[in-house]
Amino acid sequence: MRHYVGGEFDASGVPFPLVDPVTGRTAGAVPEASRELVDRAVTAARAALRGPWSAWSPGERSQLLHRIADGIEARFEEFSAAECADTGKPRELASTVDIPRAVANFRSYADLLAGRAERSWHTPTPDGRGALNYTVRKPLGVVAVVSPWNLPLLLLTWKVAPALATGNTVVAKPSELTPATACLLAEVMAQAGVPAGVFNLVHGRGPDAAGQWLTEHPGVDAVAFTGASRTGTEIMRAAAARLAPVSFELGGKNAGLVFADADLQEAVAGTLRSAFTHSGQVCLCTERVYVERPVFDAFAAALAVGAKELSGYGPMVSAAHRDKVLGHLERAAADGGEVLAGGGVPRFGDERDGGFWVEPTVLAGLPEDHPAVRDEIFGPVVHLTPFDTEEEALTVANAGPYGLAATVWTGDVRRAHRVAPALDVGIAWVNTWNLRDLRTPFGGVKASGIGREGGDHSLDFFSEPMNVCVKL
Ligand code: NAD
Repeated sequence: MRHYVGGEFDASGVPFPLVDPVTGRTAGAVPEASRELVDRAVTAARAALRGPWSAWSPGERSQLLHRIADGIEARFEEFSAAECADTGKPRELASTVDIPRAVANFRSYADLLAGRAERSWHTPTPDGRGALNYTVRKPLGVVAVVSPWNLPLLLLTWKVAPALATGNTVVAKPSELTPATACLLAEVMAQAGVPAGVFNLVHGRGPDAAGQWLTEHPGVDAVAFTGASRTGTEIMRAAAARLAPVSFELGGKNAGLVFADADLQEAVAGTLRSAFTHSGQVCLCTERVYVERPVFDAFAAALAVGAKELSGYGPMVSAAHRDKVLGHLERAAADGGEVLAGGGVPRFGDERDGGFWVEPTVLAGLPEDHPAVRDEIFGPVVHLTPFDTEEEALTVANAGPYGLAATVWTGDVRRAHRVAPALDVGIAWVNTWNLRDLRTPFGGVKASGIGREGGDHSLDFFSEPMNVCVKL
């Protein structure tokens, strides 16, 4: 585990332990970046902005992104294994979602970049000669990319790829809990021919450490952050001091709406996936489901059976996160919540009993203002509530501070088109969940984010349009 600064690997800094979430055992160590190292990384990124990188054409950058994607694919198994070791997620998830999506992040921005058109206008002037206006897109400069632990490589590359595509230089700080795939990425970058200083990597924690030092650094021109909403507030405060633009993908408390006209089997299977993928540790996961009263009992019973039968799921990422999730479960039970499935810690009778496991849990019967229904849990916990009218379903779904994603299950095409756009979220799925096309806008409203990424939205955020006006 090393930092990567100015094209050099660097192992300086006091190491802090990495813990295997599956067993709870210490599995390695990562060096904590000093303030001086963070400063050196930003300085290297600033210097690289003025170097040969500034003359690379979009076509050359596009080819570089493809070479990085090739480099990840060439070490696919290593990347998958590293992601599983850090997060404890099932191998199948890493090898079908995390690593392929990281590859796709580089390829899709490479392809988009190659097809980007610049706009121009012929403007009439009183002398009849006219003027030609055209836009030139310039990089923002040095971009700080700060990412979380749940989908480490996927979310890091989701921002690094478009930042490099548009000619910026990057200082990345992955989560202190999951640094391994970022280290491999730095090696791939070096082999792919990314010029020294264009991509830099520093490890460390957030507050009073690398995360804070990086995002408040005066040499950083923009911050692209994925993580908790309260961290977003801290980072925005730091960025506000120098008016640096931010792109934020933050927390959620995503709702599912199940109407009586839905294919119930499909809704149950979809909700099992949306609630329990990666043990609920995906920002898009559904944590509260509103079910039309006539099908509530049947839906709840089927979901509970499905949750009890789930196997092959992974643990929470850390002891602290496990304790937070279990705290929610204890409070829910103490306050009279019904536990339809799970609610505790699975016992394996082997070394996994030292890990950070929580059973897939289905709750019901709690009021809307209960913390388990209102707050983001980010674990394998879903709460069910019945509703009587479409209007009531929309009101409860739209309540609360978050607005990331929602899922609607219905067999009525008119209802689908009426309800989906009326949801206060960045993404609404109908009769599916987490089906993503990387060209579409991605992000949240309210406390779930600022700005949109994906496709042209990312290329727009990471570049600044400049107008040139030539009198003819
Ligand atoms: P977190 O905010 O605690 O940490 C995210 C990153 O920010 C880490 O690298 C951390 O070291 C750093 N950080 C923490 N405090 C900082 C500070 N004061 N200044 C600068 N950096 C700081 O989040 P987490 O626990 O790693 O991730 C879980 C959260 O991320 C959940 O809320 C989840 O919903 C959210 N998330 C959102 C999306 C999305 O796309 N909207 C995707 C994944 C995760």
